[in-house]
Amino acid sequence: LLDLLAFNEKMAELGKMASGVVHELNTPLSVIVSATQMILREDELPDFVRELVERINLEAARLAELTKGVLSFSRVEGGGWREADVNQVLRDVMAFLRYEAQKRSVTVIEDLDFRLPFIAADGNRVKQVFINLIMNALQAMEEGGKLFLRTLPAEGARVMVQVADTGPGIPAATLERLFTPFFTTKGPEEGTGLGLFVTRKIMEGVGGTIAVESAVGEGTTFTLTFPVAE
Ligand code: ADP
Repeated sequence: LLDLLAFNEKMAELGKMASGVVHELNTPLSVIVSATQMILREDELPDFVRELVERINLEAARLAELTKGVLSFSRVEGGGWREADVNQVLRDVMAFLRYEAQKRSVTVIEDLDFRLPFIAADGNRVKQVFINLIMNALQAMEEGGKLFLRTLPAEGARVMVQVADTGPGIPAATLERLFTPFFTTKGPEEGTGLGLFVTRKIMEGVGGTIAVESAVGEGTTFTLTFPVAE
């Protein structure tokens, strides 16, 4: 029991550190976003400069959006419940990540049940969960593939959301370490190893569940369930 307490304390400490780091990133990121916007207002830019600055602007805006998600997650503890429409949140996230899918020739296949009730969770936190899972799936399919997004009713007044990919899959030995902080198989520029750790924390926070199934060479499916709103 003592070990468990010490472990939980360490995790909480890591969480605090992470949100501190994320907070520090916010100011420089917004400077980059607004400075690049100002440059893009110039008429006389050579094409290659415009393209590069657009790219910087897009990536910085994406990072700013991600850090906002992590921050809102760490602030919410004890906050009031809000309701969210999982289909709407998924669509918002896909609008935001469409370019990342196209860039990798990934086909997005949506199978959404629009009769679903709202879930009892803050949409911003749910958005962060979807961004993390979908971004991981896309990064696993650099050579193209299919991304499946499904929403459906689940037992016990719950809503199920599945994010599945036809990427390389995850070996059984790795599956166990997936949700631990700083576990990553990506290079330092792409991976922090915090995505799934944060994702699981958020799911626990909203009374949800998260499970993963994977087969090497076939792909990976993440299954989430959320409690339905009253
Ligand atoms: P990060 O994305 O920064 O590496 P995550 O916690 O989000 O951190 O993911 C941890 C690791 O889990 C990834 O580095 C990757 O090896 C593996 N992973 C996560 N999602 C998938 C997926 N859909 N397909 C294959 N591997 C995955």
